[in-house]
Amino acid sequence: MIKQRTLYGSIEIGGTKINCAVAETIQNSKTIPSILKEKKIQTKTPNHNLNEIFKFFNQYNIHSLGVGSFGPIELDKNAKNFGKITSTPKIPWRNFDLLNNLKEKFSCNIYIDTDVNVAALAEGKWGFENELQSCLYLTIGTGIGGGMFLNNKLLHGISHPEMGHITVKKHPDDNFEGVCPYHVDCLEGLASGFAIEKRFGKKAQNLNLKEKQFMKKIISYYLAQALSNYILILSPNKIILGGGVMNLNNLIIDIRSNIKKILNDYILKKEFNEKIDQYIVSPKLGKKSGIYGGFALCVFPNN
Ligand code: ZN
Repeated sequence: MIKQRTLYGSIEIGGTKINCAVAETIQNSKTIPSILKEKKIQTKTPNHNLNEIFKFFNQYNIHSLGVGSFGPIELDKNAKNFGKITSTPKIPWRNFDLLNNLKEKFSCNIYIDTDVNVAALAEGKWGFENELQSCLYLTIGTGIGGGMFLNNKLLHGISHPEMGHITVKKHPDDNFEGVCPYHVDCLEGLASGFAIEKRFGKKAQNLNLKEKQFMKKIISYYLAQALSNYILILSPNKIILGGGVMNLNNLIIDIRSNIKKILNDYILKKEFNEKIDQYIVSPKLGKKSGIYGGFALCVFPNN
């Protein structure tokens, strides 16, 4: 039987930029889609961006469109406001009915989830040699967000996971108050790229050596606490750490060793104890986990 190849669209909606891409792939495919065309645009107002998005996809005959968006976003399919962005600090996007506005412009199937949930799906399905049974994807960028792929589904409940806003114990050497507008000193308030910028008065990549060392010490302390909690609660088969802050030299190594200290030999699995460098890893799809995530929603639509 010849399998039908189909064109899919993917949109990754971030706070500063939006990525659009078209790829050709096969339904239920184990192989990663081949991207035919990509376009990055600056995030501005929803109406302006939607026109640009439509202009890009209008050149193709796409079968379905997968959308990974920043949140919070209503993902309860039975809710009246399904697909609507809710309490975001990005004012033009607050209460924007993303899904229905896309539906007005596109007649194809549209699937939607958070940017981090779709990244977890793409990494779980296509990132590794064998499909993962479960994985947690955490991005540490301007903000912090986490998605969870578990038993062939993306994790949803009353809402979607909001892993960036958990409470962490303050580092004794850290006298920075925190920047989360909702919780002040939650994980995102203390360890995000925005928190680093506010703490030092400059972006993480511009810190001097001494500042970088201090930053690594406290950021890895906070991220290790969060990840230890996620491991104990969700027991993921793999943890994938993406986002700009993770580009800082060897931060992942400090995070791994701090997690081992916190969990203190409580977890006796060899995947964790002997192979932690394969358990807590960088994204295998590099910076493309999110854009592949949109395709993954189209190829595996039952999430
Ligand atoms: Zn918060």
